[in-house]
Amino acid sequence: MDAILVVNAGSSSLKFQVFALVGGDLERRVRGQVDGIGVRPRLRAADGAGTVLVDNSYKPAEIHDLPTAIAETADWLRTLEGLKLRAIGHRVVHGGPEFSHPVLIDEAILGRLARYQSLAPLHQPNNLAPIRLAMAIDQDVPQVACFDTAFHRGHPAYADCYALPRALYDEGIRRYGFHGLSYEYIADRLLEVSPEVASGRVVVAHLGSGASMCALLAGRSIESTMGFTALDGLPMGSRPGQLDPGVVLHLIEERGMAPAEVTHLLYNGSGLKGLSGVSNDMRDLLASEDPAAAFAIDHFVHRCALHAGQLAAALGGLDAFVFTAGIGENAAEIRTRVVERLTWLGAQLDPAANEAGASRISRPDSRLALLVVPTDEELMIARHTLALTGGPR
Ligand code: ADP
Repeated sequence: MDAILVVNAGSSSLKFQVFALVGGDLERRVRGQVDGIGVRPRLRAADGAGTVLVDNSYKPAEIHDLPTAIAETADWLRTLEGLKLRAIGHRVVHGGPEFSHPVLIDEAILGRLARYQSLAPLHQPNNLAPIRLAMAIDQDVPQVACFDTAFHRGHPAYADCYALPRALYDEGIRRYGFHGLSYEYIADRLLEVSPEVASGRVVVAHLGSGASMCALLAGRSIESTMGFTALDGLPMGSRPGQLDPGVVLHLIEERGMAPAEVTHLLYNGSGLKGLSGVSNDMRDLLASEDPAAAFAIDHFVHRCALHAGQLAAALGGLDAFVFTAGIGENAAEIRTRVVERLTWLGAQLDPAANEAGASRISRPDSRLALLVVPTDEELMIARHTLALTGGPR
């Protein structure tokens, strides 16, 4: 089968999917990942129907870093009968100020993307590693980079900057915004599931381990709660979200913390995990009887409400509010509590539809349409990759 491989490489996991080209369509055939790299490595993959294709555990030394995880995955992919890779699409967190669309990768482009490593030091090097490796294995398989920042590049300049000296903006210190592949997918999906709101003013809440919101005006991003890095905006699994920069200065200057310690605190020790002391996982918090877990949820809901209001202001009003990602798609209780805080915008929840996991969860008389739309960043990457590598043959 002619296929497109989608790769999403992080520091401790490598996620991949294989989409077969059937006629002009993309059909998901494999969904897999290597996780626990260097700790408890495990390669798992299932087919489109969820049947397990592989589930291998390894000694830490066998898959000790991302390149060994990629090599093991490539070996396993070779065992798939008849698989013919037409192209590889990669999730790349940062496209810097210049990339507003996905791009076909060559050595020159790779060099330009490497320049953005300083903008996303925790993610960009991992995203680029599999591109280099795949180039070394087979120069002839085209590769496409799809950026988390690209969908937000059309923000008005006054929304794209911080109130810092202009020279810093020119150096690249801007409000890039992230989760762009998810928002782009949702914007496309809205045309199908709710065409009447797709052309209007929509806030999309991507509530997963990472969480942000995006203001869509007629399907285009005009504002995001995330900024220069993926730390800003909503509280997340282990990131604090919006934070007075004075806190960072205080931690360094008064508490004597090293920058690396602050980085660890902000990326791994804060958010729901830091506040609750229980877990970074919303399921655990919802199931917990610890008052600290309930408190962390109260904070999360409060901040969701505040940021929704901010984005409604950016849009000059609101026609629809969309929930997506792990929490947004699955946690009816969190949706209920967020919607309660959107009543002033005209939101009226249909509790039965919400509990049932319907795609429209607002009452018919709600001024604001409330929707649950599952996201699919990998399919978005596969579509871009197909489009940039010549479309169906
Ligand atoms: P990421 O892709 O960023 O790792 P996801 O979009 O998978 O994140 O979201 C992970 C979050 O979704 C976790 O906090 C998890 O607890 C939450 N989640 C997943 N399923 C449910 C559920 N049924 N109820 C509540 N939260 C859920």
